[in-house]
Amino acid sequence: MQIVSTIAAARETRARLDGTLGFVPTMGFLHEGHLSLVRRAQEECDAVAVSIFVNPTQFAPDEDLNRYPRALERDLSLLREAGVSLVFTPDAGEIYPPGFDTSIDVGEVSRPLEGAFRPGHFSGVATVVAKLFNIIQPTKAFFGQKDAQQCAVISKLVTDLNIPVEVVVCDIVRNEKGLALSSRNSYLSKSEQERALLLHDSLGKAEGHIAAGERNASTIRALIGDILSKDADFCVDYISVADPHTLTELENIDDEALISLAVRVGATRLIDNVVVRKK
Ligand code: AMP
Repeated sequence: MQIVSTIAAARETRARLDGTLGFVPTMGFLHEGHLSLVRRAQEECDAVAVSIFVNPTQFAPDEDLNRYPRALERDLSLLREAGVSLVFTPDAGEIYPPGFDTSIDVGEVSRPLEGAFRPGHFSGVATVVAKLFNIIQPTKAFFGQKDAQQCAVISKLVTDLNIPVEVVVCDIVRNEKGLALSSRNSYLSKSEQERALLLHDSLGKAEGHIAAGERNASTIRALIGDILSKDADFCVDYISVADPHTLTELENIDDEALISLAVRVGATRLIDNVVVRKK
């Protein structure tokens, strides 16, 4: 496994890899969710590259950039064990040298939901992902459905800018109780982790109602709101029933819908979602 931290070394190492290359961009502090993307990339490609970069431009000034969890040595040993060929671990100065002054705005799909609550977030994501694609030049890139809007934004970026990369969206990995794995779960106390299960429970109940014939999106939003309001300390940012590709809110659930939510549990902001499709 080659570990490189400069763009020049990443390009040289990448050039020596034969066949198709799968790429998994991450911010590190790896868990089974990240590793599931690595395994999928290995199934579909000849070699796999992973980046570990806590991208400062996707954090708002009041967010958790400085306390974002880091465990580089542990991450590297997990990736070595997994059989990854290339790990790119640049520092912020390598990616954003003095004078760097470009940013990508992916438009309407980046505006609602996370975009509304985290101004500038998707512009930071789209810009760094475009740079990483240019540096690593992967055949396919693997992203988690956990960050559903990010998947929609990256897909639109790749389409609109004709980037020659196939985007593969991978299922959410959860713990045995249903909590979606996230590096930020490490901020949660034991009791907060238990209470956070309500997120997945509420999505499961919504799915059940839709399977039983409910088609009204407002009814589903209200149902989830009622369940989440059982925890007086939850602060709900949004509950959305939207088109999975455009993120436009739906009135009726006809074909497929992305049901997503963001909740602040204490000082930690959690997101979760489920996609429902008409059978
Ligand atoms: P992050 O390190 O949080 O930026 O995540 C890197 C990639 O891993 C993104 O594509 C995430 O969507 C994906 N990811 C994070 N958590 C999970 C999870 N629980 N299941 C599947 N993919 C995930």
